[in-house]
Amino acid sequence: MGHFIPLSVPNLKGKELDYVTHAVETEWVSTAGPYISDFEHNIAKYVGASEAVACQSGTAGLHLALIACGISRGDEVIVPTLTFIAAVNPVKYLEAEPVFMDCDDSLAMDPYKLEEFCKQECYFKENILFNKKSGRQIKAIIVVHIFGNMADMERIMQIAQRYNLKVIEDATEALGTYYISGMYKDKFAGTIGDIGVYSFNGNKIITTGGGGMIVSNNKEYINRCRYLSTQAKDDTLYFLHDEIGYNYRMTNLQAALGLAQLEQLESFISTKQTNYMDYQSHGIPLLKFRDTIRPNYWFYSYLTHERDNLLQYLSNQNIQTRPIWRLIHTLRPYKEAQAYNIEKALYYYDHVLNLPCSTNLTGNEVAVVVNEISKFVKNN
Ligand SMILES: *Cc1c(COP(=O)(O)O)cnc(C)c1O
Repeated sequence: MGHFIPLSVPNLKGKELDYVTHAVETEWVSTAGPYISDFEHNIAKYVGASEAVACQSGTAGLHLALIACGISRGDEVIVPTLTFIAAVNPVKYLEAEPVFMDCDDSLAMDPYKLEEFCKQECYFKENILFNKKSGRQIKAIIVVHIFGNMADMERIMQIAQRYNLKVIEDATEALGTYYISGMYKDKFAGTIGDIGVYSFNGNKIITTGGGGMIVSNNKEYINRCRYLSTQAKDDTLYFLHDEIGYNYRMTNLQAALGLAQLEQLESFISTKQTNYMDYQSHGIPLLKFRDTIRPNYWFYSYLTHERDNLLQYLSNQNIQTRPIWRLIHTLRPYKEAQAYNIEKALYYYDHVLNLPCSTNLTGNEVAVVVNEISKFVKNN
């Protein structure tokens, strides 16, 4: 049996050690220090947002983004069911309620169902959208760009504008993805809605070990997120706090890693693209990215009727793969929540298996994975 081929692991062969060493040598290791603002600045510049706020995780970023958008107790937020649970939990942190929406073939939120839901299951009165069933106000949509693809932002933004809904983009998996045509040409995932969030968890396209970033062109949102991420401190000498804040700030150590990783992001994307093409040219069809975008090629999704058997077979060959997440509306904390006409998400849940996609993945390793999948397909 060959060596272990992981699904998605960090690649730290740039200036990471230099920058982290510098942070340690200068003893700026905590939530202040020059790398933090440099990292914020460089991310904002890279994605074309006016400002960014670095925080401890993507989840923390989403929590703050929801607060900035005015989500509070008893409000409703439309969310995808096909996503990682961290996109939804922050709604509950605020004692607001999720309404689950289906996906389209990009795996992100289906704009047609979203529109149908707003039209048929809600009423719009004095510029406020109310859910007929619950009577509650719907304030926002959390759009998640799944696996490096882009949601149909043109349609989703139109619907959001029509019904006065805020749009929070969970772009944790899509840093580097942008439109190459259409009305959002050159716009990056995370910069189209009201506020966007990235994650630098260990399995993401760039990593800080753990970390996140909020971006927005709305100065008020940015200031509010920065304030709340640093314990809502109104006076740094006398420690006055007018609100309840959070300890969500990123550390200079994390930012040191992040800066070095960001320098390599475009080369990571090009490696991921090469490997993505490589799988396909060897006869392994992968889920397509929207053709109006330059994706970041984060994850490679293979569709199979034999998901569990193939997963087990590859695992026996020392190859790590992963099914899609269990749909959130079927999980215990969310079983009582409203789910609108979920169909496609069920299909993709049953059929997607994600294949090794690290930026460390070599051509030889791709060949090994391809060979094992072909063997499995031939025998089943
Ligand atoms: C990774 C991820 C998050 C959370 O990011 P963390 O930094 O791990 O908190 C949120 N949403 C989605 C879709 C993710 O993939």
